[in-house]
Amino acid sequence: MSTLNASGWRPEMTENDVTTPSTFTGNRALMLEEALIFEIGDEHTTGVDLDAAPSVQSRLGGMDRNRGIGLPGLSEPQTVRHYTRLSRQNYGIDLGFFPLGSCTMKHNPRLNEKVARMKGFADVHPLQPQETVQGALQVINELAFWLIELTGMHGVAMAPKAGAHGELCGMLCIKAALEARGEDRKVVLVPESAHGTNPATAAFAGFTVEDIPATPEGRVDLAALKKRLGPDVAAVMITNPNTCGLFESDLKTISDAVHAAGGYVYCDGANFNAIVGKVRPGDLGVDAMHINLHKTFSTPHGGGGPGSGPVVLSEALAPFGPIPYAARYADGSFKLVEEESAGEEHPQTFGRMTAFHGQMGMFTRALSYIMSHGADGLKQVAEDAVLNANYILRSLEDTLEAPFAAFGPCMHEALFTDNGLAEGFTTLDIAKGLIDEGFHPMTVYFPLVVHGAMLVEPTETESKAALDQFIGALRSVANRAKQGDPALKTAPHFAPRRRLDETLAARKPQLVWKEPELPIAAE
Ligand SMILES: *Cc1c(COP(=O)(O)O)cnc(C)c1O
Repeated sequence: MSTLNASGWRPEMTENDVTTPSTFTGNRALMLEEALIFEIGDEHTTGVDLDAAPSVQSRLGGMDRNRGIGLPGLSEPQTVRHYTRLSRQNYGIDLGFFPLGSCTMKHNPRLNEKVARMKGFADVHPLQPQETVQGALQVINELAFWLIELTGMHGVAMAPKAGAHGELCGMLCIKAALEARGEDRKVVLVPESAHGTNPATAAFAGFTVEDIPATPEGRVDLAALKKRLGPDVAAVMITNPNTCGLFESDLKTISDAVHAAGGYVYCDGANFNAIVGKVRPGDLGVDAMHINLHKTFSTPHGGGGPGSGPVVLSEALAPFGPIPYAARYADGSFKLVEEESAGEEHPQTFGRMTAFHGQMGMFTRALSYIMSHGADGLKQVAEDAVLNANYILRSLEDTLEAPFAAFGPCMHEALFTDNGLAEGFTTLDIAKGLIDEGFHPMTVYFPLVVHGAMLVEPTETESKAALDQFIGALRSVANRAKQGDPALKTAPHFAPRRRLDETLAARKPQLVWKEPELPIAAE
């Protein structure tokens, strides 16, 4: 790649340069092509030799399966290679920078992984007698203490298993509190700058959702919100920092107004990593806020899990929080307050959200993260995350439109739009071009408040050198999109897969595996 031009792209490079020569195998050097397991495996291959199963008296009353179920078998080396090859086509935070906005893909210190794997934590079973899991309960209780401390709140529900699950927990607390007051408030106000899960949660909890517009500065329109408050408003759900990557600086004023009108304030605190150690939501009048342990307090969370979304609660809402919760008694022992004991200790609980008490593995990771960083370290997490995002914002605002950059610094993520690209070029082209540059794309087309959004969250993890490389790559790709480089329209060229027809993939999924017909044996 010694002939790169200033924009980082070989000007003479054409589509053909990239796609030819093709190989006999479809492999590209040591990047191996891999088919689906259903295409390479068959029913007759297996990794182990087992004796034929002894015939047994069926106990299924004639409902026996009389055919194989068609699962493909592979030998052991084939199996190992299949999954190893697939894993090499994967991209993760341990390979490189992962700038997904609103996802907080940060490095997860290995220390926390080690702690979570300690036998005493990893091997506990939720149905063990409580006197045998005192240490685990202590971890839950201590983490609960620090979450309350860091947020300035009154209580915390540890059970919710993700951010959105935490939102539901908070909204159910609000519902229970309104019921206890004998009030039937139905409306939840959700500003445009809120995360998409907020209106979904409010609707799921049985409320009617109404939008509150955003100002040109990307924040809640305070006047519009105040005007809408009234006796039918149960709550306001505000994301802070919001999905434009901005701090909702009017939050205290909003909370006061909502409380004066008899409502509650739900704050989506998934982005707590931007303010941890700097601001306590309790001081801003928040009544309920979920914290995504998997974003702020470490845990690898690619591929959809695991998550953990404890909800901190104000004095007004804490009595309604779910069971079970880990309580510490005067004699120093720990106990889960469950249905049986809730009657005396937690009589107003709205009930149970999960079978057990939450994600133990994530609790140990989060507590390990908090304790190893300490108060000064957590504050630095927020400062570095914000500094990194602003470095990206200021480095690229001359290349990409940054709609809110003129109004001051951003928080943990930098927002750009597709305004100013050449005719026919879009945010999607920039995202695909970044793949060729070896970067996972940023979040695209979210938030919805701006056109063709590109939301970049560097987190506190990245070094200046890594950010400079990303900024260079994004500038190069953005300039190609502004100049209308046709090769960008067909990017990625170097990835294991070319650009997919996403509409076709959604409308006509080609599911290779055919479910075998399973005739049920008749007696
Ligand atoms: C990630 C996120 C959520 C949802 O969290 P999950 O754990 O994915 O359910 C909600 N709000 C904001 C602002 C987020 O960034």
